[in-house]
Amino acid sequence: MNTAHKGRILVTGGAGYIGSHTVVALLEAGYEPLLLDNFANSSPSVLERLHTLTGQSITCLEADCTQTDAVLERLRPLHVAIPFAGIIHFAAYKAVGESMARPLEYYHNNLGAMTSVLRWMEELGISLLVFSSSCTVYGQPEALPVSESAPMQPASSPYGHTKQMCEQMIGDFVRANPSCAAVLLRYFNPIGAHPSALLGELPLGRPNNLVPYLTQAAAGWIPPLTVFGTDYPTPDGTAVRDYIHVCDLARGHVQALDYLAHKPGICQAINLGASEGVSVRQLIDTFTAATGAPVPHQTGPRRAGDVAQVYADTTLATQLLGWQPQFSLADALRHAWAWQQQLPETSRP
Ligand code: UDP
Repeated sequence: MNTAHKGRILVTGGAGYIGSHTVVALLEAGYEPLLLDNFANSSPSVLERLHTLTGQSITCLEADCTQTDAVLERLRPLHVAIPFAGIIHFAAYKAVGESMARPLEYYHNNLGAMTSVLRWMEELGISLLVFSSSCTVYGQPEALPVSESAPMQPASSPYGHTKQMCEQMIGDFVRANPSCAAVLLRYFNPIGAHPSALLGELPLGRPNNLVPYLTQAAAGWIPPLTVFGTDYPTPDGTAVRDYIHVCDLARGHVQALDYLAHKPGICQAINLGASEGVSVRQLIDTFTAATGAPVPHQTGPRRAGDVAQVYADTTLATQLLGWQPQFSLADALRHAWAWQQQLPETSRP
């Protein structure tokens, strides 16, 4: 581990799937993460596993980001003692399907938390922000691969709409506070787990996302996977996404912070993906080829809110951040499977 101290970073949603991998990457790069999480979709046991993996003690405030003033008063003395150099804001609800069924919860939680984070920056004088955005802001893009300059299409779900609105809020905030700077990281589909199998994705209840559903179905924990839609205008009829290893994604956050350090006034959107379109069928086949494990599956109708295909142009991430993925799709699926195989039966939904 690099022991140089590059500053303390507040990581909202730091116990979550992408947050926890980013905490490891921050520590490796010499930052001091302080986590803020309400464990709405994560478990406090992540903190012990982070300690085992990094050998560092991890501080986490248990708090709900939508409680703007109450959390501000808890952050203030911490900031006076050791100032926060920046914030990485992950804390949000993230399931497309669920957002169609429960839109108000998504607007309340995701926009409320975003407003809080910007208020904390203003009140405490924190100038750097890395925001967890999504390729969902593009809707169904007209041209592929999609670059950051693509016009935003209407979002296909309330979840996507909250990400678009958060990006706009941050843009307005930076314009009004030009000593601040932000990177909006537009993730494609984060998958996989830490190669140690100590961190990974464990949604509470039955998974919504493809890879955790697939690994749990392959383990026999849940019913067979349903392939949502076989009549898309794609080569094999199933929907195409761009799957990126979560550790590559995590490193992108650290590189975004490094990039922001001397760029007051910028608000820059950057794609993070593998730049490769992969269909649901191709993903199932790659999983079985990489792990030897068959995936029980059936086909079904399209899922509401899904777009047919989206994959990234990541030229900007390479140019601005010097970022490139290091893991393959097969690596990511092997790591996801190793993570699944060490999960105790008590994790079974
Ligand atoms: N998908 C699927 N079965 C599932 C879950 C997802 O066929 O049980 C498909 C989904 O329709 C999409 C792709 O897998 O085309 C990725 O879905 P996921 O929910 O992981 O991410 P999204 O792209 O929606 O953010």
